Amino acid sequence: MNVNTPISGLEHAWAKEGRQPRIAIIGAGFSGMGSIIKLREAGYTDITCFEREDKLGGTWRDNTYPGLSCDVPSHWYSYSFDLNPDWSYRFSYGPEIWAYQEKIARKYDLFPAIQFNNAIRKLTYLGPQWKVESEKNGEEIFDFVIAATGVLVNPAYPDIPGLDSFKGHMFHSARWNHDVALQGKRVGIIGTGSTACQIVGAIAEEVGHLDVFQRTPHWVVPMPQKKYSKAWQTLLRIFPPLQMFIRNFIRRRMEGSFGKATLGDEAEQQKIQEACLQFLEQQVPDPELRKKLTPNYKATCKRLILCSDFYPALQRDNVDLVTESIDAIEPVGVRTKDGELHELDVLVLATGFRAGDFILPTEVIGENGLSLRDFWHGLPRAHRGMTFPGFPNFWMLEGPTGVIGNTCLIDISEHQIGYMIAAINKIRDDKLVAIAPKMEAFEGYNARIAEAIKTSTWASGGCSSWYLDPSGTPNIYPWLPDAYRDDMKNIDFTEYELVS
Ligand code: NAP
Repeated sequence: MNVNTPISGLEHAWAKEGRQPRIAIIGAGFSGMGSIIKLREAGYTDITCFEREDKLGGTWRDNTYPGLSCDVPSHWYSYSFDLNPDWSYRFSYGPEIWAYQEKIARKYDLFPAIQFNNAIRKLTYLGPQWKVESEKNGEEIFDFVIAATGVLVNPAYPDIPGLDSFKGHMFHSARWNHDVALQGKRVGIIGTGSTACQIVGAIAEEVGHLDVFQRTPHWVVPMPQKKYSKAWQTLLRIFPPLQMFIRNFIRRRMEGSFGKATLGDEAEQQKIQEACLQFLEQQVPDPELRKKLTPNYKATCKRLILCSDFYPALQRDNVDLVTESIDAIEPVGVRTKDGELHELDVLVLATGFRAGDFILPTEVIGENGLSLRDFWHGLPRAHRGMTFPGFPNFWMLEGPTGVIGNTCLIDISEHQIGYMIAAINKIRDDKLVAIAPKMEAFEGYNARIAEAIKTSTWASGGCSSWYLDPSGTPNIYPWLPDAYRDDMKNIDFTEYELVS
């Protein structure tokens, strides 16, 4: 159907017409790819996935910086329905994760469903369908829209005076410029988060000199990296249940430790903080440097960093940790508040992401012409992390408060996909027209979250982080991941407006 087909009222309801729903998915990362696979398995075949870039992979396509690896163990960081016995390392490096995504795409024949280089410009709810405007296709009509646009997607550029005046090479960590050789160069990196720590460890040896600009120290534990043997991979291949056992074991360990530590379990939080302090003591003998690297807030308040080579790199003769705050960027380098100019050839901005954007700046217009931006009013919230009153037949994977800390987001998005498909099946079976959460359900859910989140270390640990929205409230699920999985398994339709 194209947009020239007249649309009026509640006509064109696919379930009443007895046809396949037309489903638009935005984004071909883990969530978008998983949606195509699971929707097809459920019998839905009219699917178009819009991908703004020329390759799939989401964050694993965008991030190609040196040292990139995942701090969730490989056997946990994969689809539950397609475990991979061949992971080479306990913590996979970026290229191997991206290769896994490519392999999945070929195996499940995803490419025909994906339109590359086709960004979505605007979504408008016409009732009960959506007008979807894309760069290449113009306007098209879909019955459902699924935003699988990710969270750590849009690079955050620091608001530092003179940033654009820098005359050397400058790029964000998520837009690594591989044409710039670093050998022997004077390199600066702004930030000391998970990304920066990995980069510093990976490039310290080859650069001429490295300045690491730290605004706030982060808590760090070692990454217990390990290369898997061929014999181990063969064993996993011969005996697949072992993979699921390992996966579940890792999940329980991570959620039982990091998960509980963030959610008010003081003993777990203390255990992690002690482990960080011990690691720092072991790794950094110089008390002055150690002091600079010791955070003054609770461990797990910011995302805990797993990195074994950051501290050793900082102690190399060619590396300086700069803790004086940055005053300005100048054409030849970074000027700190003490007046010192740190001359640089290359400046890397490892300054994180605008995590609060979600699908924005893409315009999403719901019922009565209300935009999602106005509905959020600067504080994005969703019902059960996925849906919004006034935006029927629209789903957001890993939406506001649908990001669950300290676990594997692929697993969370699989549960969200299951929940969404249960709703689509309900529409099909009951020949409904539209579904959207009731306002009171949305408000009640978010009020409970707002209360529960107060005791988390994200809120009370004394730090600032990308988890916080502009009001200073963590935009994250405040209970253990198992509670969310239970929510997702049992959709409560009384929370939803079901239009028949
Ligand atoms: P991030 O955790 O948000 O860290 C950004 C860093 O940049 C912080 O050190 C921040 O300092 C600094 N910064 C930002 N603006 C600045 C400014 N204007 N002046 C000086 N410093 C500034 O970003 P990220 O390291 O890219 O990590 C984001 C998330 O991605 C992680 O939390 C994690 O969830 C994920 N990630 C995971 C892995 C992994 O699996 N190993 C690797 C990379 C990323 P402050 O701390 O003072 O704000």
